[in-house]
Amino acid sequence: MTTLRDPLAGPLGKKAADAYEKVFGLRTAGDLLRHYPRRYYTRGELTPLDSLSEGDHVTVLARVAMSSVAGGVPGLPPDRARAAQARNRARGARGPGAARLEVIVTDGTGKLQLTFFHGVGFHAKQLPQGALALFAGTVSSFRGRRQLVHPEYELLPAAAADERMTTELAEEFATELIPVYPASAKLTSWTISKHVGVLLDGVDFGADPLPGEVRERHHLWPRELAVRAIHRPTDREDLRHARKRLKWDEAFTMQAALAQRRHAAAAMPAVPRPPAPDGIAAAFEQRLPFSLTEGQRAVGEVIAHDLACAYPMNRLLQGEVGSGKTVVAVRAMLQVVDAGGQAALLAPTEVLAQQHFRSITALLGPLASAGQLAAGGLDSANEDTAEQATRVALLTGSTGVRARRSALSDVFTGDAGILVGTHALLEDQVQFADLGLVVIDEQHRFGVEQRDALRDKAAGSRPHVLVMTATPIPRTVAMTVFGDLEVSTLSELPAGRSPIATHVVPAVERPHYLDRAWQRVREEVAAGRQAYVVCPRIGDADAGPDADGADADGADVPGPGEQEPVPADGSDARRPPLAVLDLAPELEQGPLSGLRVGIMHGRLVPDEKDRVMTAFAASQLDVLVSTTVIEVGVDVPNATVMVIMDAERFGVSQLHQLRGRVGRGRNPGLCLLVTEAPPDTPARERLAAVAETGDGFQLSRLDLQQRREGDVLGAAQAGRRSSLKLLRLLEDEDLIAAAREEATALVAADPELSEQPAAKEAIDDFLGDRRAEFLDKA
Ligand code: ADP
Ligand code: MG
Repeated sequence: MTTLRDPLAGPLGKKAADAYEKVFGLRTAGDLLRHYPRRYYTRGELTPLDSLSEGDHVTVLARVAMSSVAGGVPGLPPDRARAAQARNRARGARGPGAARLEVIVTDGTGKLQLTFFHGVGFHAKQLPQGALALFAGTVSSFRGRRQLVHPEYELLPAAAADERMTTELAEEFATELIPVYPASAKLTSWTISKHVGVLLDGVDFGADPLPGEVRERHHLWPRELAVRAIHRPTDREDLRHARKRLKWDEAFTMQAALAQRRHAAAAMPAVPRPPAPDGIAAAFEQRLPFSLTEGQRAVGEVIAHDLACAYPMNRLLQGEVGSGKTVVAVRAMLQVVDAGGQAALLAPTEVLAQQHFRSITALLGPLASAGQLAAGGLDSANEDTAEQATRVALLTGSTGVRARRSALSDVFTGDAGILVGTHALLEDQVQFADLGLVVIDEQHRFGVEQRDALRDKAAGSRPHVLVMTATPIPRTVAMTVFGDLEVSTLSELPAGRSPIATHVVPAVERPHYLDRAWQRVREEVAAGRQAYVVCPRIGDADAGPDADGADADGADVPGPGEQEPVPADGSDARRPPLAVLDLAPELEQGPLSGLRVGIMHGRLVPDEKDRVMTAFAASQLDVLVSTTVIEVGVDVPNATVMVIMDAERFGVSQLHQLRGRVGRGRNPGLCLLVTEAPPDTPARERLAAVAETGDGFQLSRLDLQQRREGDVLGAAQAGRRSSLKLLRLLEDEDLIAAAREEATALVAADPELSEQPAAKEAIDDFLGDRRAEFLDKA
């Protein structure tokens, strides 16, 4: 008997198996049984034909309203079609005189034309007026009418009581609900349905992967029943049960895999790095120009405790934009330095790495100049400082040869307690004397692999790991994308921040609003403050479409959930998005003339980026016209206005991140979303949502609603992309939380799941080829 893990070739034959592999990447019987119907047609309820869009591959349930043979002799009745066709064939042509069959199908109101050029007589006979069938094909348009050319079709028993109706088919469509599968021209919905039927008749489902107690506690159907019901539901109630159970499978398997990973990680030894009462960390706090928020203090305590443990910390620190995560990270790094270890801070962009380096060095002051001070013969007070001091090194893809050599050497000898950099830190040449803590900033741009790569740099034992994300993410996303991490949240902003006012500027309907926007920029600059102007594109003819994703050292590879949808709706299709290199000179000569305008984008050489950011931070520039390279992390408190051009081109979370660059100091921030999208478009609704709420968590939910789960989980998430079929991270929050609890308990009691071979097998299937990487390297 076929098992779920057997290849499809057994039960379906090689040809079909190859097609499934090619079209859907499905290999095993279990894979195909997890190819769930996309929807169900209710018998008697026809597909609304008005909803079809050109270019879509559709499967519709409709009734034949009329059919006629066109071309040849106009109005030829269908029963004479065969003769007409024979004549055409004899002429060997399908010219204007050739007969074609035109069938109009209807859902009761809307109409769709089907056109057949071959087998005219045959299809005419198959599709008499009144016939009910599923039709599948790609919607095209002919003389303004939507049509399917040569659709595949399958007659339904109700209207097709002819000899072709086998009992098998009758049975298949006997229920109220007709499954419609994600299909292709090669594998139509009903072919898939038949193949699924073959499997349902002949597959041994084996043991249920969900332990009986879990099923009982949560009132879940046995798996076999659920799989049968989702493919052959008798009614909607059946479906509800089936879906719930199969969602549980997905959530439980994923959470069990994550629990195993957490468990394995906690079993690794780590060097405890307890706080020192009067080390460099304490001296650093004395120097801080502000007092820590409640949240920073509380999270700091948790982290301090984690670091003192003999097993590795694996913590995610998420916080609203501007909540002050960097300081929390620096305190943790200094605690490790005090305990004799080193810390690495990995940033996603060159700009951010440079900024971290500058600001950490500045915050540390003399504490960051170990070796340099001691040589100068100091008084005793400064000698204390020198004794506590460490060095901060910077390493990016563009660090010069000499600086690089000295950074590598300081890191190797342990003279540098802190190494800041981009993914250049992951290279083999980077060797630490004693790496105790890895901090990863803006984790949404890094995957599990990078975490692993850095972690492997600690010789012998595991370093502690702190991951930070500035994109606030819903609880369930944290539980899945970062499910192997403990989560801490900084929700409050430091006192004295005024909220950022955000307004939509409709440039087409209200051109004077845009004039007013530039005037606001001038006013802020006149008051001694600074502004950002953000464009979706760099510009210049050379590089084609260059929405700025890539930083010069390539560290800026968009990660999971980072690539925002570029909405087609409402965007102005007539012109390319505005570009930094075009807009900057226009502003300088026009509305912002007389102001000091700088530009920033990913194609600048790293030194130039550093120069520009430093100049902007030092108020030597009034306005920075930039791409999204400044999206994350950039911190210039004196900047108070941001004008985002073609704002509809950016995703919701991205806009929230961007505007987080202003309002970081004492003065209120202002963000203007300039758009040419017409009112009442989805694009405008999104912008309105961003303008209305400053709550990053709420916006990230909105963002998530507009994306597919796979995009959120991304390729970096362990498990094959196809693993989550039914689970929806937002809708199924409670289910995921419950599954997580059950999975964690199960793994705690039986880490290897030796008592639960079926669950173990399900996890293997879920992780696929990535099992070794995912679990064994935990
Ligand atoms: P994010 O969480 O977005 O990474 P940052 O760490 O960049 O935020 O901090 C934003 C700004 O707030 C920085 O200028 C930082 O110095 C400042 N800051 C951090 N903590 C406090 C605090 N407790 N009080 C006042 N300012 C703070
Ligand atoms: Mg930050």
